[in-house]
Amino acid sequence: MTAPPKTRKRVLSGMRSTGKLHLGNYVGALQNCVRMQDEYECFFMVADWHALTTDYADTSKIKENSIEVVLDWLAAGIDPEKSVVFIQSHVPAHAELHLLFSMITPLGWLERVPTYKEQRDNIKDKDLGTYGFLGYPVLQAADILVYKGNAVPVGEDQVAHVELTREIARRFNGFYGVVFPEPQALLTPAAKLPGTDGRKMSKSYGNTVLLTDPEPVVRQKLKTMVTDPARVRRSDPGNPDVCPVGDLHKIFSSKETMAKVNEGCRSAGIGCIECKGWAADALVQLLNPMQERRRKFEENPRLAWDILESGTERARKTAGETMKDVRAAMGMSLEYEGPE
Ligand code: SF4
Repeated sequence: MTAPPKTRKRVLSGMRSTGKLHLGNYVGALQNCVRMQDEYECFFMVADWHALTTDYADTSKIKENSIEVVLDWLAAGIDPEKSVVFIQSHVPAHAELHLLFSMITPLGWLERVPTYKEQRDNIKDKDLGTYGFLGYPVLQAADILVYKGNAVPVGEDQVAHVELTREIARRFNGFYGVVFPEPQALLTPAAKLPGTDGRKMSKSYGNTVLLTDPEPVVRQKLKTMVTDPARVRRSDPGNPDVCPVGDLHKIFSSKETMAKVNEGCRSAGIGCIECKGWAADALVQLLNPMQERRRKFEENPRLAWDILESGTERARKTAGETMKDVRAAMGMSLEYEGPE
């Protein structure tokens, strides 16, 4: 007798349509998504509606940016045979559930989300006093719950959003009967990845290494990377623990290289140029196979689109089943229920 198939927990993970991804995206989330595919039933969504919550004024690049994200996912090892890959706006059920959740979500819950105030204070070049921006955690809740997701991989800063999703699920279940699970936050240990200027790697700082950067560009970017400020001359000993290049080594280099860096830097036995060359070697080794896989999709763009279409179909089917349960629980089913 064959054992019944093990039911895997369902995970939803989304990334905004930002265009080409960088190493910070890879280390912070993508690498983890690739690993999760065997353990969980994964739904990977390019969140183009979420991109609109801040970048609503110019949508000319939004579709192209979504596709770039998908190409980077496939290149990094997201496997459409194992996981469902789709673009959020292609599954309208997210919007329907968002609308229903917005009816039951108290305003105070949204106003107290820490990133809401923080982002409004930090992003000065856009008017974020919009209904969509305040409500984006409700849309996130809909994204997760429309698949009855059990878990959401997040960094520390997103835990409050998952908590809000749990509260919305609880409130819905309390009013209309239990439809939704309360998803858990799967805390992903996010390694600190500095950009070339030593600050956190981020598109808005212009300090990124893209997953698509060719080898000469990677080497050039690393050459200009800031180092331990105490190491002014070649003869000054340095400290890899306070050097952004040292952080790169810790994440990407082998133990042997790390030992050489530690020894050579602290004794001034190596120069920073040599050390950066080793870091570039490690990055190129990681990026080369990804870029090779990406090329296959770039040469045949229809391939990625077909993957998206089949992912969309699977996502719509699952989301459609949830919406049936939602409508029934709320007494709004589409079925005829009167006398025959
Ligand atoms: S040798 Fe390497 S770790 Fe040390 S300061 Fe230079 S770049 Fe940084």
